[in-house]
Amino acid sequence: MIGVYPTPVVHLEKLGLWVKRDDLTNPIYGGNKVRKLERLIPYALSKGKKRIVTVGAVGSHHVLATAVHATRAGLLVEAALVPQPRTEHVMDNLRADLALGAKLHPVRTYAGAALSMLVRARPSTYLVPMGGSNVVGSLGYVDAAYELAAQVKAGELPEPDAIVVTVGSGGTAAGLVAGLVLAGLKARVIGIVVAAPVWFVSFWSRHLVRAVYAHAGGRNPRALEGRLELVTTELGKGYGEPTEAGKRAKDIARDSGLHLDLTYTAKCFAGALDCVASARFANVLYWHTLSSAPLAPLLARAPLAPPQALERLLLAP
Ligand SMILES: *Cc1c(COP(=O)(O)O)cnc(C)c1O
Repeated sequence: MIGVYPTPVVHLEKLGLWVKRDDLTNPIYGGNKVRKLERLIPYALSKGKKRIVTVGAVGSHHVLATAVHATRAGLLVEAALVPQPRTEHVMDNLRADLALGAKLHPVRTYAGAALSMLVRARPSTYLVPMGGSNVVGSLGYVDAAYELAAQVKAGELPEPDAIVVTVGSGGTAAGLVAGLVLAGLKARVIGIVVAAPVWFVSFWSRHLVRAVYAHAGGRNPRALEGRLELVTTELGKGYGEPTEAGKRAKDIARDSGLHLDLTYTAKCFAGALDCVASARFANVLYWHTLSSAPLAPLLARAPLAPPQALERLLLAP
């Protein structure tokens, strides 16, 4: 295992909110992508793969998590990267990817990324989609649901009625929905969509829920009905574009000791606060997905600036 489990659950009394601390999955680089890699890396090794080829936005946490943990497992890592708005956080992730020896291929669009991945496919290559969100990766969140069920059973938290989680590529929410049903927990998953196009994110998440459930041995797909509610009102102008509600949520979370990013978790936390305010649910759990491991050790060996060619192609001013 690469992670440290179970991750803690904490109660933010002032906000009336429970938090699942998946920021702490790994002390070198944590967050939700570690749980997916928990499944993806052994799968790749069991198939005799030597190299993972994947895709993401330039500041992708998935690409960085893969660069950290798959490299440590002896796999080579390559990624096709598409542009996203420039922030310091995005720059740091890109520099860390480079420091870890990931081979990066700048492309302009996700269609270009798909093509770039396909031409790099060899029999020894494991192609992993955006966010690590295939069926194998999403099973990491089936495991997480069982972990939560054990924590509920042990009395660490009351059984949640709603779990609020970010939806980017959808694997986290989908694995959770399938896992909650399998583990016999009643919570509905409120997925806060932070990526576009919304129709595709919605289609892919719902497809993954059914596929992961079946793969994990689920026999009653009707039990999945109504268990995933997607909220699209926090997205704002699009992926990586900060919102006012997100900025406010980030400040509120900081006062409770949680560090959020504006692309994913601030928008989700805003949705979680709304969920509490609506009084629809007695117990709300916000599932925290952003790594809180310090990047400094990873950046110690990084170039001060990414190569100009990467910068020009990937970082819109
Ligand atoms: C990738 C990511 C998500 C979204 O998870 P998906 O499984 O892609 O929907 C949420 N939060 C953070 C911090 C992420 O890096």
